Amino acid sequence: MSAAARKDPAAVETEVREKIHLEILKRTGAYHANDHILLPSGQHTTEYIEKTLVTTEPSFTEGLGAVIAKHFAQWPIDMVLSTGPGALILSHCVARAHPSRPIVVYGTKGLSGGKRRVSLPVEFQRLIRPGVKILLVEDLVSTGSTLSLLINLVEDLGALVVGIGCLWRRTSVEFDNRPVFSLVRRDFPTYDADKCPLCKRGVPLNEEFVRRRHARRPSSVQEPKEV
Ligand SMILES: [Zn+2]
Repeated sequence: MSAAARKDPAAVETEVREKIHLEILKRTGAYHANDHILLPSGQHTTEYIEKTLVTTEPSFTEGLGAVIAKHFAQWPIDMVLSTGPGALILSHCVARAHPSRPIVVYGTKGLSGGKRRVSLPVEFQRLIRPGVKILLVEDLVSTGSTLSLLINLVEDLGALVVGIGCLWRRTSVEFDNRPVFSLVRRDFPTYDADKCPLCKRGVPLNEEFVRRRHARRPSSVQEPKEV
């Protein structure tokens, strides 16, 4: 029997599923692979994801949200909670596809004295009663610190976090045995410039993302001042 045939079928399924989801993210223009990319940190990498672009294709987001909902379908869920615009769009799609028909609420992220902070609008606070079952939804999980804050916030109000569903999990951090389901579980290898294998092979460095980041100014408009 070959090594491939001996592979655990569940692992093969996860691998295939990840490939499909990576292709979907590539088609949104958010995911770049097989490149030699300069990161804002000065490190080099082969992959890059532009978080803002992840949820721009409604039919893709709906499909990905339905996969997360299916995974958590066996759990009764009262509420789906997220923070940030991308995660909110995804959380709507998850809630829409979940058999419990959960409601959708969202918190806001910010900084306070240099520390991360998550807050909930007061109107939502009274919906989070003791015993309410919550599914947290996130687009990209990098350090997991926003999710940890959200868990503390809602559990202090007496609610129960039944799980965490996300598109992409870059970290192996755990959340006290709460089940985490991600469509893609993958961290990018990043290299210091002097140790980068792509530099050593003479592959041209793509500085586009850093350049774009420096040059980029969000478009904005405001009402004219009254005279
Ligand atoms: Zn390099």
